[in-house]
Amino acid sequence: QLTNPTRIGLAGLAVMGQNLALNIAEKGFPISVYNRSASKVDETVERAKQEGNLPVYGYHDPEAFVKSIQKPRVIIMLVKAGAPVDQTIKTLSAYLEKGDCIIDGGNEWYENTERREKEVADLGLLYLGMGVSGGEEGARNGPSLMPGGSFEAFKYIEDILLKVAAQVPDSGPCVTYVGKGGSGNFVKMVHNGIEYGDMQLIAEAYDVLKSVGKLSNEELQSVFSEWNRGELLSFLIEITADIFGIKDDKGNGYLVDKVLDKTGMKGTGKWTVQQAAELSVAAPTIEASLDARFLSGLKEERVEAAKVFKSGGFSDVLTDQSVDKKQLIDDVRKALYAAKICSYAQGMNLIRAKSIEKGWDLKLGELARIWKGGCIIRAIFLDRIKQAYDRNPNLANLLVDPEFAKEIIDRQSAWRRVVCLAINSGVSTPGMSASLAYFDTYRRERLPANLVQAQRDYFGAHTYERVDIEGSYHTEWFKLA
Ligand code: NAP
Repeated sequence: QLTNPTRIGLAGLAVMGQNLALNIAEKGFPISVYNRSASKVDETVERAKQEGNLPVYGYHDPEAFVKSIQKPRVIIMLVKAGAPVDQTIKTLSAYLEKGDCIIDGGNEWYENTERREKEVADLGLLYLGMGVSGGEEGARNGPSLMPGGSFEAFKYIEDILLKVAAQVPDSGPCVTYVGKGGSGNFVKMVHNGIEYGDMQLIAEAYDVLKSVGKLSNEELQSVFSEWNRGELLSFLIEITADIFGIKDDKGNGYLVDKVLDKTGMKGTGKWTVQQAAELSVAAPTIEASLDARFLSGLKEERVEAAKVFKSGGFSDVLTDQSVDKKQLIDDVRKALYAAKICSYAQGMNLIRAKSIEKGWDLKLGELARIWKGGCIIRAIFLDRIKQAYDRNPNLANLLVDPEFAKEIIDRQSAWRRVVCLAINSGVSTPGMSASLAYFDTYRRERLPANLVQAQRDYFGAHTYERVDIEGSYHTEWFKLA
């Protein structure tokens, strides 16, 4: 039975909420918990007992829940994004008092957070939108936290967040005050977009090694394990290696070969691509990874298309080129790394563009730091990104950081070989190709955009500038043709 008020409350006890509540309690902060359906409250309290009598206090009644928390009260919500968040705010705010604070830890659209921040301000309440990454395991043992909104509210719970977040030796807890308004949700959204890119690039590396290089699952596991000891060291490479080693428990062979080739999604990748378009920021690798998910969803159509092309003499993999496996593995590793640099460059530039538009003053190097642990894209590589922005906080693009530029130059021949081999083999590598096209476009002084501008002026009198004389020009091209 609770005698003193708890330090914090958490509403929404599905996978994320339950695990985050236990994590907070384990770090020594007594916590009150509440969920719309009572069964999850009891389940959480039971888990808290079993995991070492953690100080978790369950409430079925929202009023008793709110009143059990020490003032000024802080409540983290972890419910489904959208209308459930509004409903939960309505339920809780009936009992909250001036100066109390609500934190939305879900994957929420940043504009919803900005709207709610204003709405609850009318009630005298403070609001934070806090990206939480790392899935179930991260929430329980240390996530990456991206809180944005009221700085005052952040200060209330900074001590809790610093302890609850993932801890990375030499770079501290994976949390920072991101910025004002919906910046925490926005940054989490782009994190997820980058995650789409990483996963797609890894899938392409797998496809080239398996379909062209004919590597077995055992070989793939050993290649990815080896990669996880070098520059590609990351959570996603690590779990990929694990996946190749897992046998099917319902039949013969490996489980990965039995998984249907259809990728699901919940929307943050699509939002990232929409935002890139809104802000006129090129994000081709992230876009390619989203398109790859759309196309993967057309399984039945693809099966029919494969029949059409097979009957026309096409095989699944077009060329049966003999490849030097060792060389191919080395090339694919380099291609993956170089393509990844381009993908992160796109994500970071998208964050910067939004930061300028909204006046958020986001610190890109600091974001790379808090992604080093706890979250899905955690990787040793993020250290290099942090260092690049430390060297030059106004870096126009990661590609032109001297260290990254050197790494790309060292890898570009291998990268081109992999993309050419994939193209000649009919194995699609949309992410690696999009990254390469991004690099080849960004690094060229002169592009064929002169011709496009001439065409625009020809048919639409849109005018053009000249390379040699100042001013805006129009030519009646059709009269001269
Ligand atoms: P979820 O499946 O997204 O949501 C389930 C929770 O929402 C339950 O507590 C449910 O309550 C509550 N809920 C749904 N509709 C409600 C309503 N109308 N009013 C009040 N409560 C309502 O849970 P989750 O997977 O734990 O995710 C929580 C949030 O974290 C989401 O925004 C999600 O996108 C984000 N997130 C998830 C992950 C992950 O790996 N799962 C990772 C990072 C971020 P009932 O029990 O009463 O139905």
